[in-house]
Amino acid sequence: PKYVYRFAEGDMGQKDLLGGKGANLAEMAKIGLPVPPGFTITTEACRAYMRDGEVPPELRVEVTMALREIEDTLGRRLGDFHDPLLVSVRSGAKFSMPGMMETVLNVGLNDASVKGLAEFSGDDRFAWDSYRRLIQMFGKTVLDIDGDLFARALDDKKSAVGASTDVDLSADDLQDLVTTFKGIVQDATGREFPQHPREQLEMAIAAVFGSWNTERARLYRRRERISNDLGTAVNVMTMVFGNLGETSGTGVAFTRDPSTGHSGLYGDYLSNAQGEDVVAGIRNTLPLADLEQLDPTSYGELLQAMRRLETHYRDLCDIEFTIERGKLWMLQTRVGKRTAAAAFRVATQLVDENLITMDEAISRITGAQLSQLLFPQFDGDAAKELLTTAMAASPGAAVGEIVLDNAQALERTQAGASVILVRRETNPDDLQGMIVASGVLTARGGKTSHAAVVARGMGTTAVVGAEEIDVDVEAKEVRVAGRVLHPGDVIALDGTTGEVFLGDVPVVDSPVMRYVSDGLEAGLAACEDDAMRELLQAVDRVMRHADAVRRMRVRANADNADDARRARARGAEGIGLCRTEHQFLGDRRVHIEHVVLAEGDEERLAALETLLPLQREDFVELLEAMDGLPTTIRLIDPPLHEFLPDLTELAVKVALANADGGADARDVRLLAAVQRMHEQNPMLGLRGVRLGLKIPGLFALQIRAIAEATVRLREAGKDPRPEIMVPLVGSVRELQIIREEALGILAEVGAAAGTELDLPIGCMIELPRAALTARRIAEEADFFSFGTNDLTQTTWGFSRDDVEGAFFADYLENGVLTISPFETLDADGVGALVSSAVTGGRSTKPDLHMGVCGEHGGDPESIHFFHDAGLDYVSCSPFRVPIARLEAGRAAA
Ligand code: ADP
Ligand code: MG
Ligand code: MG
Repeated sequence: PKYVYRFAEGDMGQKDLLGGKGANLAEMAKIGLPVPPGFTITTEACRAYMRDGEVPPELRVEVTMALREIEDTLGRRLGDFHDPLLVSVRSGAKFSMPGMMETVLNVGLNDASVKGLAEFSGDDRFAWDSYRRLIQMFGKTVLDIDGDLFARALDDKKSAVGASTDVDLSADDLQDLVTTFKGIVQDATGREFPQHPREQLEMAIAAVFGSWNTERARLYRRRERISNDLGTAVNVMTMVFGNLGETSGTGVAFTRDPSTGHSGLYGDYLSNAQGEDVVAGIRNTLPLADLEQLDPTSYGELLQAMRRLETHYRDLCDIEFTIERGKLWMLQTRVGKRTAAAAFRVATQLVDENLITMDEAISRITGAQLSQLLFPQFDGDAAKELLTTAMAASPGAAVGEIVLDNAQALERTQAGASVILVRRETNPDDLQGMIVASGVLTARGGKTSHAAVVARGMGTTAVVGAEEIDVDVEAKEVRVAGRVLHPGDVIALDGTTGEVFLGDVPVVDSPVMRYVSDGLEAGLAACEDDAMRELLQAVDRVMRHADAVRRMRVRANADNADDARRARARGAEGIGLCRTEHQFLGDRRVHIEHVVLAEGDEERLAALETLLPLQREDFVELLEAMDGLPTTIRLIDPPLHEFLPDLTELAVKVALANADGGADARDVRLLAAVQRMHEQNPMLGLRGVRLGLKIPGLFALQIRAIAEATVRLREAGKDPRPEIMVPLVGSVRELQIIREEALGILAEVGAAAGTELDLPIGCMIELPRAALTARRIAEEADFFSFGTNDLTQTTWGFSRDDVEGAFFADYLENGVLTISPFETLDADGVGALVSSAVTGGRSTKPDLHMGVCGEHGGDPESIHFFHDAGLDYVSCSPFRVPIARLEAGRAAA
């Protein structure tokens, strides 16, 4: 393979091979911008180095060829004792990894060429300073010598001569320092600082390759989900000097204002300095505009170069440049990083300048960026006292009184307070508290713990795994940072940073949220300044375009009318999942108890009878809120014992009561029932369609409630569109039985009301067997809805509630997983089942309507997968509806 590309040979399409920096340098050279001569060693050479533990022999030869070309062109030799060529050796991977890898400047300097440099520049001080920088940088990054040794020697020198900054050191001081530095190298490595320029070059190249695999680089890649196999490229580039006096300098710039998107001049300049000085913040920089006075010619060239780059990349670029004695050099460019707000503004601004289309504009903005704009934020100027920092599980800024359980949460919120639910960890019993709370703080658990997953789904701020917090429910205390807090004390959670503060921190609401909930007018009214108004206009344009181009519809998961209305306001085009079991919680638990305790069919039917009107009212409200839009209602799914008291607690209660003279007969019966229903693996137990088949009348009740609610609304002139969904189907026969029963009920209710009830009846595809037999199941289904949470659990054989603490951390560590499959769909495994079910279902019914409900429906990466798989809609939490709309648009654009 060819390991070395001259800048003139590559282009920006070759980031895999040349790394981002190399590809962009090549591109700049190609379009005629002044790039110092150089070449790029490919990532493939790095991979060979990692595989073999040494650089491939061909690489040395290719480097010689490329280097000689530069030497011949410039008429200078690497490390010559007369006007030497010096080079930088710069890392540059495909994805930028800021601060992770190494760059060595001034390679080629030695005891002889330092004199050549002094002679050529006429500046002794500059030459010795460059040499001491080389030994320092080379010593640290290539020879692995403790950087403090050099830093201390530098400080010692400064105090010895009474210099307050580096700049105050004279040429002689610096020459002394070079001697000291060489001594440090000798002591640390047992050999002299390498004098041979070519040897320096070889060693620096190997060191840059090696820096790919440092501990911190690996850690960074794991976090950013960058593969360890890519390797880095190495750029060898002729040194140019911004520190050759007042006609020289260095700077960084953006081609347009990253916050407004407006084109113009944004950047910093430092005269008589080298690149790393700007970043290090050693001296105060000047605004770039000042360069116009200092050096009008270079300034004009720079403006032109920036315009070329913008036209070429059709995006905001950031650049590094250096001016050496009045000559401009471009040292780096890339499409610039930007904040979420800037992404919207830059993209629409580029559209207005006719540089990109709206399709391109939405491809440059992510759902994650939109979601950042939706959360309220703490006022950055406010004073805060930090209690602890833990895992940022669900973004947002929440302030409220500490509450420790559901009862307190309800009581305080009903009294008008805003509350933070603080728990050691949460479980489904805490749901009510979580629903009313502004924020959730737990002492245990990670990003996929119950608290984190549920909070994210609800759009509630959460910080989890705050191990320094001690939650003592008995004593009604929360101990942290040497303080003892009590219910009623106010704390503040930042779900974006994981910080927990004491006391009230002012929160500023997001006008973008106002916009997605109440429309453009309301959003604009909530804006405090023009910048915000411009941002809202940009968001609105992007959203309207996404809506216009997307193929997939977006529905919401909502269990009650309030959530449904909220989702609808945010653009939901239906309900993809209404979980009816939430309607059995709270006061209504007792009805389920009656159903479970019923002896014989008659008693059970009577118990179910009492639930009918309650369910019907729920559905009337929900369907009314979703008038005219499809509303998928899932029949009861979880095992019934979830609605009953805890086995151990009840057993203790009965035992105590017995010892005390005799337990309540009802409790005894309840205990027997709970014991009877106890399962080792409830997730794989009596739930979903199995319940419907096992307990006659249960599904019938729900179907009847749906039918009667529909009739009622139709009679009121409404347009209810319920869809009946059967959960956990694994066999077509299960669905067939329920379907027959449902058709009977619909016919009966319809006939009595004189209307035809042909409601769609479909099922969830959430078991591998359902996916594999989708062709058969489609015979009985009017629609499919993929339940990717259960499908992930059953495909991997993971229990979502347990894996987090058990071994996810190890799996992420050793690379079995790069992200939780409950967060982003595992395309290779679970996704393959989804695709096969889509194909199977449509082979039976070409128009079979299909969607997805569950966490993944709101996850950007997964949404793109569902688009490609051919689903008709995604359904997600009301909060994520706008995000899903944008991502569905991006997938289609
Ligand atoms: P990073 O990726 O950390 O920015 P770079 O490879 O860009 O590292 O280099 C670090 C600094 O050195 C930058 O300011 C860059 O502009 C400067 N630099 C790199 N190569 C040269 C060169 N050949 N001549 C002058 N300055 C250089
Ligand atoms: Mg750089
Ligand atoms: Mg399920």
